[in-house]
Amino acid sequence: MGKLDGRVVIVTGAARGQGEQEARLFAAEGARVVVADVLDDQGEALAEEIGALYVHLDVGLEVDWQAAVAAAREAYGQVDGLVNNAGILRFNALVDTPLDEFMQVVRVNQVGCFLGIKAVAPEMADGGTIVNTASYTAVTGMAAVGTYSATKHAILGLTRVAALELAPRGIRVNAMCPGAIDTAMSNPSLLDPDADAEETSRALDGLYRKLVPLGRIGKPQEVARLALFLTCDDSSYITGQPFVIDGGWLAGVSVI
Ligand code: NAD
Repeated sequence: MGKLDGRVVIVTGAARGQGEQEARLFAAEGARVVVADVLDDQGEALAEEIGALYVHLDVGLEVDWQAAVAAAREAYGQVDGLVNNAGILRFNALVDTPLDEFMQVVRVNQVGCFLGIKAVAPEMADGGTIVNTASYTAVTGMAAVGTYSATKHAILGLTRVAALELAPRGIRVNAMCPGAIDTAMSNPSLLDPDADAEETSRALDGLYRKLVPLGRIGKPQEVARLALFLTCDDSSYITGQPFVIDGGWLAGVSVI
């Protein structure tokens, strides 16, 4: 018996990184998964490998959301879960951030999450789940990623309001707040076919050994397990909450 037997779950940004691991784990736990992304080749290959449906979905486009939900219903007859995982990161001091860049990040991270809730919740079976991927920068500030941090704070607001509004239908809405996770977002060398992925991950561990109490960068598979917990019945009495998964980074400041 899988923890998601019989359930249909859409995962956005699922072609790689955390979304890919969520799609893999959910499929292994019995879900029928909709892999949604703008990276069509990677998304299609993953979907074929794990027996999922791939849909091209730019999360900032309402028309794409309508098509994705329709495709999920046509293939599987229902939608029970959504993981709003797609996201982008840009580095800049706030005063140096061009408005276009600010709006680009808002469009994917914040509008994408809003449109996902708006498009999927009305089509979702009662008792469904929504998991929004925020960040530890949703609960604290971080210099040089102000735009990103602002959108991730906004995702927590969307999560809480959606949880209140959808609770009468038994739909639970929670947020994940990952710290540094070893994906292309934190480790762009993963996108370089010539780079040694293990070597770059070890180098990042060296950096995070000083910053993070558990002494290493997180793995996308670890975030996937939190997404599974929030999507399956193990979290049946939990809604409207942020879950930090950061190796203890936000626990406090150490002087030793
Ligand atoms: P990633 O860059 O590997 O994956 C992001 C995915 O989102 C990619 O597959 C990308 O194609 C997709 N995407 C981007 N724009 C899209 C759009 N408009 N429509 C649909 N898909 C789109 O990075 P990741 O770490 O796997 O990121 C997943 C989520 O986790 C993001 O929301 C990110 O902000 C969040 N997060 C990441 C970290 C980290 O350190 N990696 C930390 C905290 C939070």
